[in-house]
This record gives sequence, C-alpha cells and structure tokens, in this order.
Amino acid sequence: MNNGKICVSICAETADELIEQIKRAEDLADVIEIRFDCLKKDELQKAFTNLPATGKQYLATFRPREQGGRHNLTLGERLKFWESLLWKNQDKKFLIDHEFDLKFPFDLKKTPTIISFHDFSGVPENLSETYDLYDQLFSHLRNKVIKIAVQTDDITDTIPIWKLLEQAKSEDKQIIPIAMGEAGKWTRILGLAHGAFMTYAALDAGQETAPGQVSARDLIEVYRAKELDENTEVYGILGNSTSVSMSPFIHNTAFKFHNLNAVFVPLQVYNLDEFMRRMVKPETREIELNFKGFAVTIPHKQNIIKHLDFIDETAEKIGAVNTVKIVDGKLHGYNTDAHGFVEPLKDAYGDLSKAKVAVCGAGGAARACIYALKKEGAEVTIFARDVEKAKNFAEEFQVELKELSTFDSPLSTYKDFDIFVNTTPLGMKGKAEGETPAAAEQLKGLHLVYDLVYIPFQTRLMKEADIAEVPKIGGLAMLIAQAIEQQKIWTGLNAPMKEMSRAVLERLR
Ligand code: NAP
Repeated sequence: MNNGKICVSICAETADELIEQIKRAEDLADVIEIRFDCLKKDELQKAFTNLPATGKQYLATFRPREQGGRHNLTLGERLKFWESLLWKNQDKKFLIDHEFDLKFPFDLKKTPTIISFHDFSGVPENLSETYDLYDQLFSHLRNKVIKIAVQTDDITDTIPIWKLLEQAKSEDKQIIPIAMGEAGKWTRILGLAHGAFMTYAALDAGQETAPGQVSARDLIEVYRAKELDENTEVYGILGNSTSVSMSPFIHNTAFKFHNLNAVFVPLQVYNLDEFMRRMVKPETREIELNFKGFAVTIPHKQNIIKHLDFIDETAEKIGAVNTVKIVDGKLHGYNTDAHGFVEPLKDAYGDLSKAKVAVCGAGGAARACIYALKKEGAEVTIFARDVEKAKNFAEEFQVELKELSTFDSPLSTYKDFDIFVNTTPLGMKGKAEGETPAAAEQLKGLHLVYDLVYIPFQTRLMKEADIAEVPKIGGLAMLIAQAIEQQKIWTGLNAPMKEMSRAVLERLR
C-alpha cells in the first residue's frame, strides 16, 4: 500500500452531465477533478450551485487552451473565475489547480494548491530547473504541490520526469510528475508507489482528459496502483504499439491471482538500444525500477537478442525471443510462442506427426510455429506473398515454399492439407480487418483452421472456416498458452488460465 491518491478527471460540457459523472466517479476516486474549463460558459453557474456533496475531495481546474484547456480564456476571465470560486470555497471544499503563470492578487496561503505546468510538444530541456523555479516562485504557498506534465513519445523521454520525482522525494516535497502519451503510461501506474502525490485517471476508457491516461477502474483493479510500493517487481511488454496489447490484462490477472507484489506495465519502446542502456542495464541505467522481466513483441523479438546474457535453446533455434527474465541484473531470453502455438493445436487435432500443415506467412510468428510443427514431426509448407523474400526462411527450416494466392489470381485450394495456419496480420483490427488469407471455398476439406490473429476475437478467416464447416482455433488460445509459460518462467507458478482468458475476452467483446 502507498499513500498516493487517484484523481478522476471529469470534463463535461453541461452541469447535468457533470453531476452524473461525479456520481459515477465517487466509488473510484480519492479526488474528483472538475475541469470547469470544459463546461459551456452558461452552464458554469448551474454547475456551481448543484455540485453534489460527496465524501471525496474536489479539485477545481480552469485551464486556458494553451495549457490543455477547452477554451481561449483571457487572464481577466481566469482571475474572475478563481476569485468567485475561492469566495465560495470558504469551507475548503476544493483543492485548486492553477497554472504557473497566475499570481493571485488575493490570499491563497491556506488553500491547498497545485501549481501546474504542461508542455504538449515534448520534454523541455532542464526540466529540473523549471521545477526549482516554480518551487521558488510559489514558496509563499504553505500547502502546495507542483505538477509537471510533459509529452513523451519514446520510453526514454520519461527519464527526466522520473528523476524529478526522485528529486522531490529526496527534498521531502510534494510533486505530481506526469509523462503524457503511451510511452509515459508506466509513470502514471508506478508513480504512487514511488511517492507521487497523485495520479490522474479517466472515468471511462475512451474518455481520457490527457494522452496516456489509464481508466480509474484499470488503475485500481488491473494495475493495483495504490497497492504497489518500491519493492514491487516490475514486468512489462516491450513493443512499439503497446496500447493494443492484451498482455497487461493477462499478466496482472495472474499476479493478482497469486497475490504477488508484482505489476505488468506497457513499455512503449522505439529505440531498444537506448532503453536497454538508460533504463535496464545495471552498469548504465539512470533510474531504478526493479525490472524483473519483459514480454517482447513487434518489432523487438530479434533485436533484443544482442542485449541478452543468456538465451535458451528453443529461442536460439527459432531466432526470436518473446520473454526476458532478469536475475541479478542478467538478462535471460526465452521463446514461449512455439509452446503456446502447439499446445492448443495438439489439444484440438491430436498427434501432429503425420499432419500436413499449410502455414501462411513467413514472419516472426511463423518461425515459432514452424519450429514447433517440425519438432512434432508435421509436414509443413509455407505460403508467402513474396516467395523471393521467404526463400532463405524456407531453406533455414527445410520446408516447402509456395506462393500465397490472392483473390486476383486463380484461387488455390488447401484440400491436400490437414491444417491451415494463418500467421499473417490479415484480418487483424486496423487496416487489415475484414481481410482473409483464404476464403471458405479454399478451406473445404481441411480438418482444422488456426488463426493466430486474436483481435478481433472472430476474424474473417474464422467466419470463412465456419462457412466451409471446418473446425477452427483462434489466436486467443495461443496468446494465453504462451503467457502461462511466461508466468512459469518469471514466477515458477501455474497461472490461472480461466481468469486470464476471461480478462482478455472482457476487452475483446
Ligand atoms: P511479422 O513478423 O511482421 O510477419 C508477418 C508476415 O505476414 C510476413 O511474412 C508478411 O509478409 C506477411 N504479411 C503481412 N501482410 C500481408 C498481406 N497483406 N498479405 C500476405 N502476407 C502478409 O509479424 P508476426 O510477429 O509474425 O505476427 C503476425 C500476426 O500473428 C500478427 O497479427 C500477430 O498479432 C499474430 N500473433 C499472434 C500471436 C498469438 O499469441 N496469438 C503471437 C504472435 C503473433 P512479408 O514478409 O512479405 O511482409
């Protein structure tokens, strides 16, 4: 347990919406931030007079557009707002948050105050000096917290913000450090455990008031942000689009199930070398985060290998690592994709030793699948859109290679095969959603279709398999099976399959 607070930020246009949202926030929040700047101007008075009494502390904010607010506000409008709010605030119902450029002509000494600074364009140089400056400028306020929020893109952009938190803690001062953006999500989750005064959360997923905000429910129930401390073991997903990853929901479910002091966070990494140097390797890292392991995904599964101290045989043969365990500062690499792929397949199909398998795609996931299939004695043929590019791959694994037919070319069928496996992103949410590597006509006669894509839960290929009356497995089965292996590597424990699957299904449906 830590002493930090979760602040649910509410940005509503009308007083009625505001009141409805406050009522919903009450159960989740320690502090409810009312973004008064979000209200239409003629709704302000109604909002003031109808604010419900809650057992929670209110935080009042009235931001001008240049500091992330909804409207252009003159200095006069801002001062008038604060004067009238403070006049109404004799009972100290409100904690207030005003921007660094406001110096009030009236007495604020006793009102708990957050002084905030936002930079939506990036991380300014000398962030520590900015912090010191505001600390001095507002030294007359007895009861203040400095909030510094900066935009981050790659994970190492967050280092200065984390250092500020460490500085404030060493000086026994209150700070709210925020690294906005997906790359900074981990700071919002781990901040309270390391002494941040407060972390901001959205009332509902999709209603974030700043980039990278996590919903309050996820912060409490998935990440257990208020239960974490400095000894919490930190795991995370290393990838370049972590916002779509299901891994935090899967792994945090397992940690919670076993009541472990461990958390799994998104780690948005573009420059892997810099991340390893500045945040992971004991000899060179600039901050201490108690990292114990990583799940590794696109595009780092191969590049991570050069950073490892040890690699297990399976990962070496596949040529890709999707799991890292850190022991005494040393990085150990594993691959659980092969196991995760083949276990559900054996459950559904049985003995694979004579199975004829068509594998569509020749990328990272295909490597693990083909390794596992060959190990089971299956006869594999790869279907790739670019045969020239896939030649080396086919030679390395000693499997037959054919061109993947498209809908523009005469349709080939897979009737000579037992199993069809899709390892391409065709059908995946986003650009390729609704696409399929094969139509029902081509699938007739197969015994099983296995689609590695798991978002959406029902892909177009799976619908085509239904039409062709061929049994199917979706990518969720592999996702969970490989995660169970990861948990075994990290904690030595058997992870709860049912609970982990349910955690993902709740997000996908
Ligand atoms: P990758 O390394 O980028 O490989 C993708 C492969 O698909 C490449 O061979 C690529 O061909 C081919 N491809 C891409 N777009 C295509 C298209 N429009 N038509 C035909 N072929 C196409 O990606 P990956 O890591 O293997 O992942 C592939 C998919 O598997 C993703 O959807 C991922 O979510 C899923 N996956 C699921 C799990 C699970 O646990 N369920 C685990 C791993 C991966 P080129 O080489 O010609 O570009």
